[in-house]
Amino acid sequence: MEKKTNQFKAEIAEMLDLVVNSLYSKKEIFLRELVSNASDAIDRAKFLSLTDKSLIADNPEWKIQIAANRDAKTLMISDNGTGMDAAELEQNLGTIASSGTKKFREMLAKQVEVEGGDGEKGVPGGAPELIGQFGVGFYAAFMVADKVTVETLKRGTATSYKWESDMSGSYTISDGDRDFPGTSITLHLRDDQLEYLDKWRVSELIKKYSDFIAYPVTFKDLNPPADEKDEDKKRREEDEAKPLNTMVALWKRTKKDVKQEEYDEFYKHLTHDWDGPFETIPFSGEGAVEFKALLFLPKKASMDLFMPQQKRGLSLYVRNVFIGDDIEMLLPSYLRFVKGVVDSADLPLNVSREMLQDDAVIQKIKTAVTKKILSTLEDLKKKDAAKYDEFYTNFGTVLKEGVHTDWSEADRLKKLLKYPTARGEAGKRVFLEDYVKDMPSTQKDIYYITAEREADARKSPVLESARQHGCDVLLWCDPVDEYLTESLRDFDGKKFVDVSKGDVAFGSEDEQKAAKDANEKASAELKPFLESVKKVLEANVSDVRVSTRLTDSPCCLVQQEHAMPPSMVRMMRAMNQQVPDEKRILEINAAHPLIKKLADLHSSTSTSDFNSDIAFLYDAALIAEGSPVTDGARFAKKLAELMLK
Ligand code: ADP
Repeated sequence: MEKKTNQFKAEIAEMLDLVVNSLYSKKEIFLRELVSNASDAIDRAKFLSLTDKSLIADNPEWKIQIAANRDAKTLMISDNGTGMDAAELEQNLGTIASSGTKKFREMLAKQVEVEGGDGEKGVPGGAPELIGQFGVGFYAAFMVADKVTVETLKRGTATSYKWESDMSGSYTISDGDRDFPGTSITLHLRDDQLEYLDKWRVSELIKKYSDFIAYPVTFKDLNPPADEKDEDKKRREEDEAKPLNTMVALWKRTKKDVKQEEYDEFYKHLTHDWDGPFETIPFSGEGAVEFKALLFLPKKASMDLFMPQQKRGLSLYVRNVFIGDDIEMLLPSYLRFVKGVVDSADLPLNVSREMLQDDAVIQKIKTAVTKKILSTLEDLKKKDAAKYDEFYTNFGTVLKEGVHTDWSEADRLKKLLKYPTARGEAGKRVFLEDYVKDMPSTQKDIYYITAEREADARKSPVLESARQHGCDVLLWCDPVDEYLTESLRDFDGKKFVDVSKGDVAFGSEDEQKAAKDANEKASAELKPFLESVKKVLEANVSDVRVSTRLTDSPCCLVQQEHAMPPSMVRMMRAMNQQVPDEKRILEINAAHPLIKKLADLHSSTSTSDFNSDIAFLYDAALIAEGSPVTDGARFAKKLAELMLK
């Protein structure tokens, strides 16, 4: 058979139904679409009048009016924008997915090319930002109406037209009787959609979706009470003259023109956080994707910051039209405390949440927003240490997650982390670079210790030798710290080493060698003693050995190199996780008088006395690190005995 090219046949009515009912998740969106179209039409009229003044011979006051007629069950959305002639009506409203707005944009782009401008900025007066570009928004009207009438008069022409359709697959165009330029769209509402005749409902939708449309949107009730008194009429008319929208898109104004109070008000409106923002970050993205953003850091962490159902993300606008709030895709999870608005002209209006997930524009905005927030924090760190610390107290824990989840920014994030240290005062934290700067020349690694409480960590006997050698130790007491060890890996070429694990050695090479020799000598001398202690504590520890970590305490408990720290074990168990018991190593201080005494007693005292002394020693080591003793009664009994002696 010969190859033939056929046009697809489509059942237009069904196709329309599909477009209307599957494209939008909420019926109320129709109002946003029609108001956006009206705003576009005014944008275009304004723009065209820049070069043809005759188009605005009527000296228009640009506006969008919504009029409700309860008797006729109609809702009308009117504008005094460009209007359309018969050909345009056919082209724009008679062809599904044909966008006049898109064509206008293309025409603008060409004009710029011909006139040699630099993009949209080259157009005299600046090209308008047109909302529509998909060519289906108008049909959203059929979600709530069973018939739509469009009456329109194109600016600069004298004949008006009327377009009408009930969505059954055809439409009519006839002469109209509109006598002023612009377009009115009348929706004959379905009986179950009469809520849109209500002023409060309309006002709510305008606030939600079209608050920042640049022209006033007003509401008029076409069925005032028949017996309305003059003063009531006057009041109603005054009221109806007030715009429902605020018309100021704060994020579009340059920072120097906006007062901080205005930003504060906007933040409160956006977040319902009456404390006001901690930091306000207006900025615009240029280059690959153009957008404007207004971001805020809050003063305090919200209660649900660590809850999975926490609302996170930024509000998204496309050319001043609200698309949605809590758009998670605009922020990495570790910046979920950031609030604000992003407005981009590079996205289509009917973009859905699902589409945003993989959208390249959204990805680029997310990257730019992330970088901006990080550079703001870097500035704060540099210029106002106390303020940064306040921020870190509230959000440091969340920020740390980024080291694990965002490889591309991990190095910047590490520089923003702060930790308390063994040497520092309680409540003081240091940056890693400051820790490294203070390291003695013999120290190669960055030392840390994990504990549930800072006070316990600070007192841990494990730190004694490190202290003696002038090495500070980071105190990791935030539950996420331990999880981060893998991702932190190194800082400034230095590894992170847990001082309570495996073998650690402090001081110069000579000092380390001397300590090693002394350790070997003591281990040999104390061999029988160590073996007996190990036997007594068989159930509790995997080994008993002479320590290089201790100077003042008689003993401490340490872990094998790759073991899970006790604080983490407790946390996992609290979360009902199965964690096998892992025995630790008891390290003793061979030079301590108590150990010397116990070693002496080992050969002379009775086995039962020796055993209870050693059990007591073990319990004391648990207490010293902040762990609960395994046998409280045994410990109390022994303590009482000793006190009596
Ligand atoms: P979009 O707005 O995405 O381009 P629509 O289906 O909403 O698509 O509208 C199709 C076209 O109809 C618009 O691009 C525009 O050219 C025209 N149009 C719609 N509403 C108006 C209006 N109020 N005034 C003038 N033209 C309009």
